[in-house]
Amino acid sequence: MKERTCCGTIDKKDIDNDILLQGWVDARRDHGELLFIHLRDWTGIVQVVFQETESKELFEQSRDLREEFCITITGRVVMRQAGTENPSLTTGDVEVMASSLTLLNAARQLPFQISEKAMTVGASISTPANVAEDLRLQYRYLDLRRPSIQQNLKTRHRMIKKARELLDEHGFIEIETPSLTRSTPEGARDYIVPSRVHESAFYALPQSPQLFKQLLMISGMERYYQVARCFRDEDLRPNRQPEFTQLDIEAAFVDENFICGLIEKIIIRMFMEAGISLPHPFPKISHTDAIATTGSDRPDLRFGLRFIHATDLFARTSYSIFQQVLKRGGHIIGINVKGQSEALSKNVLQNEYARHVVPGFGGKGMTWMRVADGKLDSNIVQFFSDSEQSAIIERFRCEDGDVLMIVADPSYEMTTRVLGQLRLHVAHRLGLVPENTWRPVWVTDFPLFDPTDDGGVTSTHHPFTSPDRTDFDPTDTHDLLQLKSRAYDIVINGEELGGGSIRIDNYKTQEKIFTALGLSQKDIDEKFGFFINALEYGAPPHGGIALGIDRMVSMALGTASIRDVIAFPKNRSAFCPLTRAPSVVSHAQLDELGLLNTGSPEKTTQTDEKSLLDTLSWVSRIGVGDDEHPVMEQAVDEAQALARQVLSQKCDDDPVFSAIQIENRTRPGKSPVEHPAAADGGLLAHAPAIKGDFFKVANIIE
Ligand code: ASP
Repeated sequence: MKERTCCGTIDKKDIDNDILLQGWVDARRDHGELLFIHLRDWTGIVQVVFQETESKELFEQSRDLREEFCITITGRVVMRQAGTENPSLTTGDVEVMASSLTLLNAARQLPFQISEKAMTVGASISTPANVAEDLRLQYRYLDLRRPSIQQNLKTRHRMIKKARELLDEHGFIEIETPSLTRSTPEGARDYIVPSRVHESAFYALPQSPQLFKQLLMISGMERYYQVARCFRDEDLRPNRQPEFTQLDIEAAFVDENFICGLIEKIIIRMFMEAGISLPHPFPKISHTDAIATTGSDRPDLRFGLRFIHATDLFARTSYSIFQQVLKRGGHIIGINVKGQSEALSKNVLQNEYARHVVPGFGGKGMTWMRVADGKLDSNIVQFFSDSEQSAIIERFRCEDGDVLMIVADPSYEMTTRVLGQLRLHVAHRLGLVPENTWRPVWVTDFPLFDPTDDGGVTSTHHPFTSPDRTDFDPTDTHDLLQLKSRAYDIVINGEELGGGSIRIDNYKTQEKIFTALGLSQKDIDEKFGFFINALEYGAPPHGGIALGIDRMVSMALGTASIRDVIAFPKNRSAFCPLTRAPSVVSHAQLDELGLLNTGSPEKTTQTDEKSLLDTLSWVSRIGVGDDEHPVMEQAVDEAQALARQVLSQKCDDDPVFSAIQIENRTRPGKSPVEHPAAADGGLLAHAPAIKGDFFKVANIIE
């Protein structure tokens, strides 16, 4: 076979060469005596010409070509005629005069247009955005033929390669950890996998390799990394995938500075691969300061609008809304939207922001003021004294044309969160977010715990994160909420791209953390005993981080969604339109896995779309109206639950078994009458076995 030339590499150096090309027909244009095709492979596109005058047979053959036919061409490279060059192709100065054509495989009618390059200058072209995403994902193998998506995957590959190179330079080695494992808590639900061999037992897919990477440090494998697939069953959100890829890193005998320094280098190199030069060194901001200045632990620092705290200015105010808030120990914080009073009219501020936008963020309202002629102007300015007004002007550094937006609430968390969302909303609406600007920042000194609704605590990151001190009382919630963690998150342009921490390396502290999280000693032993044990064998100090590869590549490439940088993503409903996963499984499969008696098989065993209720009503010839459906559905569910309970009971050890609560039932108004034989024992006289007040009956349910 003649050596293949790749379409995208052809240029003037190849003029007069006879070459062999293989690829797909990207587009075709039939001019009667001339037929042009764009031949595409993954390096690019070149124009191929078939001329009736050269070979009638070949020309006829070429007329059968359709888009996405896979073909082999031989031909000679020539310059295009002056004036017919196509500047949108890198090979646009040349073309290939075909001398043979072999059809490798034809393609069916396409579900959507794949070609992204017009054959004639100025003609409109297709973009992935024009096609419904589920259709793209259903035919992902066609969607992936688009050069733009192929480019994303190539850049992704190169970015990961850079990270691997740098880690290798720093002595890290790549080690794989198991996918079938125990739960690793990262705050999401687990995907679980039933074991056939160990009946009724399940593996969990890893939410992260956290425990294994720490075990590797304890093992003395001092520098580890992995391009790791992680699985988290979380609520659906637009840019979330149930499985995603992390660059997972851990090192022993290191501190925060080592990890942050290393990661900075990795991120800079990875972004460089996508043509972006990140400003460095990356600044650090404490969690407290991030909240106090931007209302977010993922601060977007591309624009100003930093918070201005003004609670103290209103200690003696007669403005009743502020008075109420301050009486309850509240907070008054605002932003100064500089020079935007034209864009933010009174009407917009009052009727849009105060009435709708801010309440939409969960806030009760918003106080606004505009600055004109050196004075404040709004619907409530008259409630502020002159000295309050001057204090506001000074604190907010007001100038004519400025707009103040102020949020007041008894809760600091609520005030900062609402104002934080307002800050982002205003910045995006007014176009204050500069394009092609990159503002990486480390967020540090997080609280170790967040409070839960039931008065307990939950880990802000995960339970293996080292606290800033170890003398805490695990039963004292107040004390626990004061603890800071040795964690760090890397945030770029308001998006968290990764996070990690220095870990707990002492088993006693680790046990205290589990206790603080409400785990009993039994739970700790059962779930994490193996890990606590390992910590008891001379664990080194260690720490690490994980970077979200999908997010990072998506950000560097500016794609609308992370799905555009993943070869086979799930859609927004965590469903794969290509393979149609997740899918129902057969009764036999569940049976083989021993799942019929333990799980909830009634939903998963249906092999058709009909619900059990529909089947039952059809079999029994009883019509069930739409309004009766929910009630009947519940009755069927209860009956099934009862049946499962009966089936799962092992009656062998205990002769007494009752599936439903036993109670005497009588008509309303009547009291139960007891047969004399029940009282004198005659009723049980002939029972084969008696226990308490019950007698044994033959086991009739297998
Ligand atoms: N395991 C953490 C995560 O997946 C990262 C880390 O702490 O290294 O978010």
